[in-house]
Amino acid sequence: MTERKEQLAANLARVEERIVSACAAAGRAREEVTLIVVTKTYPASDVRILHGLGVRQVAENRDQDAAPKAAACTDLSLSWHFVGQLQTNKVRSVASYADVVQSVDRTKLVTALSAAAGRGGRELGCLIQVALDAESGERGARGGVAPDGIEELADAVAAAPGLRLDGLMTVAPLAGPYAGRQRAAFDRLMEFSSRLRGNHPAANMVSAGMSADLEDAIAAGATHVRVGTAVLGVRPGLG
Ligand SMILES: *Cc1c(COP(=O)(O)O)cnc(C)c1O
Repeated sequence: MTERKEQLAANLARVEERIVSACAAAGRAREEVTLIVVTKTYPASDVRILHGLGVRQVAENRDQDAAPKAAACTDLSLSWHFVGQLQTNKVRSVASYADVVQSVDRTKLVTALSAAAGRGGRELGCLIQVALDAESGERGARGGVAPDGIEELADAVAAAPGLRLDGLMTVAPLAGPYAGRQRAAFDRLMEFSSRLRGNHPAANMVSAGMSADLEDAIAAGATHVRVGTAVLGVRPGLG
């Protein structure tokens, strides 16, 4: 093994242990939680190593970085998740490689994603990104729709050709009433998920939890955790 492969293997093993412990503590089966490795800012060579270590779900947050990386990895069986704030002028590119867009937070994006999926002859999974700290009608500082906008957006995705409504995603707020209260934030997201599943039973994916708070997310009931730093290392600069 190369040094980088050893490092990534050791990090992955530690994250796996954390997930196993968190599932056990929550009385959940390990299979109920899927690890998505967030590879943003790291090179395609790392994605390739991770694939060799058994990773099948990866996530990116910027199209400029993600598009060439995905293109360099087309020979690998990987699901690509897009988790960043998405501008409509990037939608066509993102829709060409992403399997799931986790950051759907406005109807304009739904229209653009649907058109792009249609043009590309692809089906795109969509998660509604919820900003737990946003007021009615606003969007969150890190993207996301305010909780009272979930239903309308979910109905729009469900009705849009080429799109599949998969569930909800959130990033724990840094400010507002949920700042520093990840478990409470993720519990709230689960309530919204239950409500959503009343009208859209198949939309049962709940993406929550990152390197620092994956245990809280698993305890609350998340089905997917998005882990970057704990697997790949601390990112240089912002990312
Ligand atoms: C970067 C990022 C992650 C991973 O964060 P880490 O703290 O590095 O695990 C998860 N979700 C989103 C939306 C991200 O942008």
